[in-house]
Amino acid sequence: CGIVGYIGRQQAAPILLDGLSKLEYRGYDSAGIAVYDGTQVNIKKAVGKLKVLSELTHDGAMMPGEIGIGHTRWATHGTPTKENAHPHYNKEQTIAVVHNGIIENYLKLRNKLESKGYEFVSETDTETVAHLLDYYYDGDPIEAITKVIHRVEGSYALGIVFLEHPDVLYAVRKDSPLIVGQGKDGNLIASDVPAVLKYTREVCYIQNNEIAVLKKDAIEFFGIDSEPLEKEFSHIDWDA
Ligand code: GLU
Repeated sequence: CGIVGYIGRQQAAPILLDGLSKLEYRGYDSAGIAVYDGTQVNIKKAVGKLKVLSELTHDGAMMPGEIGIGHTRWATHGTPTKENAHPHYNKEQTIAVVHNGIIENYLKLRNKLESKGYEFVSETDTETVAHLLDYYYDGDPIEAITKVIHRVEGSYALGIVFLEHPDVLYAVRKDSPLIVGQGKDGNLIASDVPAVLKYTREVCYIQNNEIAVLKKDAIEFFGIDSEPLEKEFSHIDWDA
């Protein structure tokens, strides 16, 4: 189980696949990536080894775009199937999410969302986050994310892309690890440092309920009530 994300001047998909391969040690049963090509958010998922996903996407070449998120899944809610693999998304596929951890109150949230007309396509706890973001989203991703983190209980590291914000990658965590890497050609998120070391050694450790907002050339941080935060980067001088 691991998450990665990239936004920058390079093709995202090969970087996502490479980053996920560095997180293989965490264990997984399926994998997936979402890449935004400027028009739509394209999603590919596969059960089994990362190799299957790499082959499916021709090592990422089939998924052009300079922003994306990736996931290796260790199933907690729902069997290891393609449908249950991440990224998860809302009906219009305008919001895509990768998630490590467990949403403890997902059933309650799912029932509530279903009663409002949301249709679920997986058995996962994670899909509630995608629909809940859709429910709260009104043009401002940070507002939607803070509303969601006030509602969900449990553990999460989330990577999120919004179709309406093609040049921004969002991430937030609670009780699941998450780091941000600041590179020369782009910025990254990951569950652990080895996933980003090929691209940067400047790393920021995200604390519980902190939101990271990554653009090609800038990184900002916000707290649980959308207040701006100052955070320090550390230089990693060890090798994975
Ligand atoms: N609970 C989520 C699922 O079962 C995420 C599991 C993970 O951390 O990989 O899909």
